[in-house]
Amino acid sequence: MATFWELLLNFFFPLQCVICGRLLAADNKERICGDCWSRIIYLNRPIDIKLSLERIWSVAVYEGVLKELIHQFKYKERKYLASPLGKLLVDFVDEYLKEERFDYIVPIPLEKARQKKRGYNQAELLARVLGEAMNKPILTDLVERRKKTKPQFGLNREERFENLSGAFEISKTGEEDIPTIAGKKILLLDDLTTTGATLDECARALRTAGVSEIYALVLAHGM
Ligand SMILES: [Zn+2]
Repeated sequence: MATFWELLLNFFFPLQCVICGRLLAADNKERICGDCWSRIIYLNRPIDIKLSLERIWSVAVYEGVLKELIHQFKYKERKYLASPLGKLLVDFVDEYLKEERFDYIVPIPLEKARQKKRGYNQAELLARVLGEAMNKPILTDLVERRKKTKPQFGLNREERFENLSGAFEISKTGEEDIPTIAGKKILLLDDLTTTGATLDECARALRTAGVSEIYALVLAHGM
């Protein structure tokens, strides 16, 4: 049920679906209509890239509605989309990863200057939603991303791996966490993966710190 204030607000500023513009009920917190939601193409098995991680899961395919939602979330300052997008991750974990006992969630860090420009790290916002639902701690300062990488967009597979080689390291403050994370099971989290290169490089940094099992979960897999 929408509250009086929601109804009043909706009268002056009608809520619209962020994808198709359709008018929504005053209490639609997702801001996405049912029709758009239903067009997300879900994946129900690990994606077939392993690299140095034990396994990578993706909730859905990076196209159509989900692609647009992720784009708005990252580049249009629509931070509130962390909630519905995070819910996709929570539902996926409930459905497929209930038996996995992760010790920590580690969102893939952005390079510092980029995060400053954007004002937030989208992976971290998603990790907060998931961490709260799973009741798992999130480590945001453990790994650091070095400056040298170019955007991955437009590079081929080999160039992507090369571009990211050595891109992550355990941060100065993260070094204090090394005794805590050694031998533990970690879930890396990001919004998107294509070749898995970013997840792979980040996993490498965690391996050097003695993490024993590293898994990854992303919202979307770009083919
Ligand atoms: Zn819609």
